[in-house]
Amino acid sequence: MRFLILADIHANWYALETVLADAEGQYDQILCCGDLVGYNPHPDRVTEWVRSQAHLVIRGNHDRVVAGLEHLDWFNEVAQVAARWTMHHMQSHNIEYLRALPPGPAQAAAFEICHGSPRDEDEYMTNAHEAAPCFASLTENLLFFGHSHLQGGFAQRRNKVLAIPAVRKKERESIFQLEVDTLYMLNAGSVGQPRDGDLRAAYALYETDQRLVTLRRVLYPAAKTAEDIRAAGLPEILGLRLQQGL
Ligand code: ZN
Repeated sequence: MRFLILADIHANWYALETVLADAEGQYDQILCCGDLVGYNPHPDRVTEWVRSQAHLVIRGNHDRVVAGLEHLDWFNEVAQVAARWTMHHMQSHNIEYLRALPPGPAQAAAFEICHGSPRDEDEYMTNAHEAAPCFASLTENLLFFGHSHLQGGFAQRRNKVLAIPAVRKKERESIFQLEVDTLYMLNAGSVGQPRDGDLRAAYALYETDQRLVTLRRVLYPAAKTAEDIRAAGLPEILGLRLQQGL
């Protein structure tokens, strides 16, 4: 079985459609690690696509806030403005869909997906030090997560935790085979708002028979999303950060 793993799409339709064209024919099922909405101007389009196409979806913190399940105060000012804009502009049936999304971790084939960490959906795992204590909460030897918007992840072997890097800027993908005696927590990276200094949309593919992971990056028209951000009256900084991958 081949999976397409998407995280942190954040209402960026142009990034999502570019990823889908890039991955076409290379997967059987789609999994989504949360944060369908927030920051960017296409929440209905993205949510409708996810609800009709993805096989397994869990919620992210932005989905929870937009669905009214969590208070806005936790967000910084720009994220708050974007969340309010999303609540006012999204169709109610799509907000209902977000409200009903389950928290992670959720079980896919012989692996799990979550938003933040396997022990807390809001926890950030941005480095090996933060990730190390979370390995104890795994129920499978592989987990895909999101939330940090940093592609890559962590591997634990004989109590040693190593960081797995994002795809290099000059390359389009990195492919590796999972080892038997190792635990993995992998981040596909963010489709709609990468923050690792690479503006290209990020995603992952996982092939279960050979246990092959492909991390990939693809250039999408971020300037077009920035234009829609401006036209929607969202903070311009949200368009600028997309064009820098920050
Ligand atoms: Zn996010």
